[in-house]
Amino acid sequence: MASYKKVYLKPGKEESLKRFHPWIFSGAIMRFDPRPEEGEIVDVYTANDDYIATGHYQIGSIAIRVLSFKQRTIDKDFWKERLSIAMDVRRCIGVAGNPNNNTYRLVHGEGDNLPGLIIDIYGKTAVMQAHSPGMHFAKDEIAAALMQVNDEVENIYYKSETTLPYKAELGQENGFIAGGSSDNIAIENGLKFHVDWLKGQKTGFFVDQRENRALLETYSKGRKVLNMFCYTGGFSFYAMRGGAEIVHSVDSSAKAVELTEANINLNFPGDTRHKAFAEDAFRFLDNMGNDYDLIILDPPAFAKHKEALRNALQGYKRLNAKALSKIKPGGIIFTFSCSQVVTKENFRNAVFSASAISGRNVRILHQLTQPADHPVNIYHPEGEYLKGLVLYVE
Ligand code: SAH
Repeated sequence: MASYKKVYLKPGKEESLKRFHPWIFSGAIMRFDPRPEEGEIVDVYTANDDYIATGHYQIGSIAIRVLSFKQRTIDKDFWKERLSIAMDVRRCIGVAGNPNNNTYRLVHGEGDNLPGLIIDIYGKTAVMQAHSPGMHFAKDEIAAALMQVNDEVENIYYKSETTLPYKAELGQENGFIAGGSSDNIAIENGLKFHVDWLKGQKTGFFVDQRENRALLETYSKGRKVLNMFCYTGGFSFYAMRGGAEIVHSVDSSAKAVELTEANINLNFPGDTRHKAFAEDAFRFLDNMGNDYDLIILDPPAFAKHKEALRNALQGYKRLNAKALSKIKPGGIIFTFSCSQVVTKENFRNAVFSASAISGRNVRILHQLTQPADHPVNIYHPEGEYLKGLVLYVE
């Protein structure tokens, strides 16, 4: 077994690890033997010299991300084992090995016991993202293991330029670490879309809305749909397939509007029901009429840190109040928050306040969350981030 540098915790600081929480904060560390480098694998011991975990060390508030609670070597076999379990889970859910769908999240960080690692699959291309220096250093081993456990993957695009800690100065550039195909059309529930893994946000597409988009489709028949914060237009093309009368997509980014139009053309060439607008959401909502009877609000995370929570809740309240005030009677709103620090209760309270401002009768029809390929590790409740409500507005 490999021997790693040792980290000793302060007395009592092993409690959360006994409950398998995968993070160790820097304040819990008593001493190093010897001091590890950024991204190194370390073995963690209690103050009484009992082994408790193995993980990636990094300089920062979360100092260690646990890879294993059993002492073992972190090598190719380790990655292969973890990735093949993740693959089994995706087959079990039905998102992998499905001719109608080749887009899914294969690795969701802590949710798949691989803290700091994200892998999304788009047909033959995997987009891999490291959020920790440890995962960055392991990227080639992980890539090799990935090719072995998923024989459909031919290309691996490594996209960590903006997700690695800036201070670690890893000088990372995005690029292919296997293959290099520019064929970028993927399929979600039978609908096609271009994935811009080179320049797009996150790994190129918001895979986490798949099931919520499918639900939206069932509400779309004959409706006038407004897809606010459309990005690549995911909700829009489901609404089109569901028989919407018109679909308007709005995003402040001109590039996003372009992507949405390209994706609509890919699925519904020549269909005149769709229009896209590059505009600010708040301005658009202020200036629009009250004809829409199905509105999607899927904004970016308003709060990235706890300190930003109050302002974020105000933001959700204002945004939802505008839509609630203007939607046609009998209208439906799909409203979301993807901020991890905003709890389900916080979000529901913000929508409650927004409803009260509008003065309308509002029913909650569905409470939505992230799909099964974004699993929540029961020992790491922080992994639950996506919240949504489907509202019926009288
Ligand atoms: N609903 C999308 C994901 C939305 S991501 C999907 O299903 O894929 C959030 C989007 O909001 C981004 O595309 C970003 O460009 C856009 N955005 C951010 N601030 C905005 C604003 N003030 N007005 C309109 N769009 C905005």
